Amino acid sequence: MPKSATDFKIAKKLSLIYIISLTGIIITLLLFYNVFKNTIFQEKHSQTKSLSDAALAVVKHFHSLAQQGAISTTQAKTSALQTIEAMRFNQLGYYWINDSQGILLMHPFMTKLVGVDVRPVQDKSGIFMFQEFIDMAKSNRGGFVEYYWPKPNSSFDSENTSESYPKISYVAYFSEWDWIVGTGIYTDDAKNEILNYALRAIGVVIAFTIIYTLISLYFVKRLVEHLNNLAIKDSLTNLFTRRFLNENLTNLEAKIKRDADSVLSVIFMDIDHFKSVNDTYGHAMGDQVIAKTAEMIQNSCRPDDLCIRYGGEEFAIITFSENREAARILAERIRRKVSSQIFRNDNGGFKVTLSAGIANNLLNENISTTIDRADQYLYLAKERGRDQVVMNEEIPRLSIVR
Ligand code: GH3
Ligand code: MG
Ligand code: MG
Repeated sequence: MPKSATDFKIAKKLSLIYIISLTGIIITLLLFYNVFKNTIFQEKHSQTKSLSDAALAVVKHFHSLAQQGAISTTQAKTSALQTIEAMRFNQLGYYWINDSQGILLMHPFMTKLVGVDVRPVQDKSGIFMFQEFIDMAKSNRGGFVEYYWPKPNSSFDSENTSESYPKISYVAYFSEWDWIVGTGIYTDDAKNEILNYALRAIGVVIAFTIIYTLISLYFVKRLVEHLNNLAIKDSLTNLFTRRFLNENLTNLEAKIKRDADSVLSVIFMDIDHFKSVNDTYGHAMGDQVIAKTAEMIQNSCRPDDLCIRYGGEEFAIITFSENREAARILAERIRRKVSSQIFRNDNGGFKVTLSAGIANNLLNENISTTIDRADQYLYLAKERGRDQVVMNEEIPRLSIVR
């Protein structure tokens, strides 16, 4: 399918639309990712707080047992510590308890530090987290603290801070026993979780984008082909349009230069007295005559010949052949075919004739000049009584004929 400047403009516009919608998808995805990230972090915060509430409920339970006199306060405290020490959630989730003097009362992994004042413990960013737990718990009865802390099962040692990870903990204060109950989550895990979700979402979007691209490319290709046809093919006859010929003159000239052995001929044809066909049989019948004539022209030509609907009932053929007479033979064949065709209508049938002018392209002659000459020979054929072919005649000084 020949490419015209129009095709490229259409292709450019369509790719612009495509790029805009793709940008839209990417922006939506980024916004979605942001909202998603914030939601997950909020969710993690409230989850941490609820987990802390669960431990606090255990403390309150044993406290009330002691209040009721069912067990002693020491028993209540020991049972509460043991119960909470055994409590786990997710993979790395655990609880610890310290008091407001900084003494660590329970820690399931750092048993060495239990009974010790942990206020001097500092993370790699310089935060004294236990001091902050105490401040947060005592001033607000609870709250979040962010710091670095080792993960259980790695070398779990508060002095080895190189192996620590960002953590956010919620501490709750139980004033009756002066206990600070804490638990937290490692935020790097949460980030990885979010990244995992995001990668999965991106994978799905990429898959959809690929499908969307392939489908759009298919439809765009079909559309461009269709638009191409609209511009270069005439809808009534399916012959090429005059515009297509004009846009391809340079291609034809290049072909003449490449193929010096063959002769390019321009045949111009026009249906005789066509106005009276329209006047006598109606415009619709006129259309049928044009379409049928075009079909006969197309069927008489070879696949490489260019058959053009040049105007209303005027046709042009651009044909390459071995000798100068081939075009005359072709035009005569079409003229005879058309003149013997009977067009049927309600009152029987009628015939039409056509006239043709043929010009062979001369050495170094522009094709548009050849076309002009073919047009002049056509008018000569009309002048001489129509229903005939005129070729290369009566134009003075046709010096070097190919
Ligand atoms: P001549 O032998 O000198 O060519 O006479 P003509 O009547 O064929 O010439 P003219 O150019 O005066 O008339 C051509 C007519 O063709 C005029 C126009 O209304 C008609 N025509 C042009 N395009 C179409 C078309 O698509 N369909 C139909 N039905 N008629 C058309
Ligand atoms: Mg005519
Ligand atoms: Mg005409």
